[in-house]
Amino acid sequence: MTFDPQSVRIDGVYEQRQPGNFMLRIKVPAGIISTEQALRVAETADRFAGGSIHLTTRGSIELHWLKQEDLAPAWRMLASVGLTTRGACGGAVRGVVCAVPGDAGYGTAQFLARRFLTHFTNNPRFEGLPKKFKIGVFTGYGDGRHLIQDLSVVLREGDDGDQRYDVWVAGGLGREPHSSFLLEEGIAGDRLLPLAEAIITIYRELVPKPKRLKHLVRERGREEFVGLVRERVAVIPSLALGEGLATPLTPTPAEGAAERLTAGIFAGELSTKGVAALAEIARQYAGGYMVVTSRQDILFCLDAGVRRDDAVRALSAAGFGNGSREERVTLRVCPGNHECKMGLAPTRDVARALIGALGEAGEDLSWSISGCPNSCSHPQLADVGIVTVKSVKDEAGERHPLFDLYRRYGTEGFGVVVRAGIGYDELLEAVREIE
Ligand code: SF4
Repeated sequence: MTFDPQSVRIDGVYEQRQPGNFMLRIKVPAGIISTEQALRVAETADRFAGGSIHLTTRGSIELHWLKQEDLAPAWRMLASVGLTTRGACGGAVRGVVCAVPGDAGYGTAQFLARRFLTHFTNNPRFEGLPKKFKIGVFTGYGDGRHLIQDLSVVLREGDDGDQRYDVWVAGGLGREPHSSFLLEEGIAGDRLLPLAEAIITIYRELVPKPKRLKHLVRERGREEFVGLVRERVAVIPSLALGEGLATPLTPTPAEGAAERLTAGIFAGELSTKGVAALAEIARQYAGGYMVVTSRQDILFCLDAGVRRDDAVRALSAAGFGNGSREERVTLRVCPGNHECKMGLAPTRDVARALIGALGEAGEDLSWSISGCPNSCSHPQLADVGIVTVKSVKDEAGERHPLFDLYRRYGTEGFGVVVRAGIGYDELLEAVREIE
């Protein structure tokens, strides 16, 4: 029987640009992975993925270069340490992203992100969606990530001092960026899952493939959309979050006060040797957990009593001294045409050239490069964003990418295009001039 790559998308599989090679994406709730899980990921990547992994801007982990026959054994190895790939691709609720470690409320956000992920993963009611459905849990509005999720939950304190939540919906980037809007303000925790269920089932019933939720809001208007959601959620009983121990996985000695340490990873590309070294550092200094950040770095929340200098030395000895520009600069990079079918540019090559070109002031800015208009690295949320918009042939038949350059000033809304359709040399020239 012929193998249809579409049929396994739901299990986190995409066919790569190179026929016969596959990417397997692992959902990591809130980006938090244990030492044991990371070591198993490294072992799996050594066996099937050429000895490297890719960290995504949603805190997921991708293994590339798997063959069809590798998919099931790799999946089994990951499942043995409680990692799932279910719903990491295709029409499903994707990995749930989370606030930054150290923010006040981070412990609650972690718990909630895990709760959402387990509630919506591997549940047939919430699979078979028209396209992806992205959820994020945040402790504030600083980095703007709430604007680009299909559903965002933002923690806030209620008037009575209790925990309350703002809910934003229908955000997304891609070819038609759409900023999310505030659907509910200050609701109680037991209304969160019913509200999410109502929105996802409406999405499944009313939106044609392969459109996102934002399409429904555009078509019907906000008022009608809000009416539909309120009508649906009214018949869904409250669902307690069932807090139980509700213990954060990472050390958070006093809320917001945990010491943090970051290993800068260029473009989210990490060797399995590097993964193993970082996993051991997590075991020794960070309570046995590390966090894949939205910047595609690895972050440690240090145990109480750990001397920061000791952890820094260990990190440096493992080859993560944050000494090079590639490690230091805040830069998000998608796989581009190195591996992705949709890619129009070799994003990692562009990123290296960019790092070489930027001036001193540029080092303090955040950067992002996407290999096509899908904008997976969220260029519209970086200080400087680069989107590959098309690829054109020259007279000799060679293809060249063209880019849009975005600037975002402040923390409101999306960045805007300041240079459109420029070639590679013009792009580097523009990067050199950025202050
Ligand atoms: S932005 Fe485009 S090229 Fe980059 S990972 Fe997403 S789909 Fe692929």
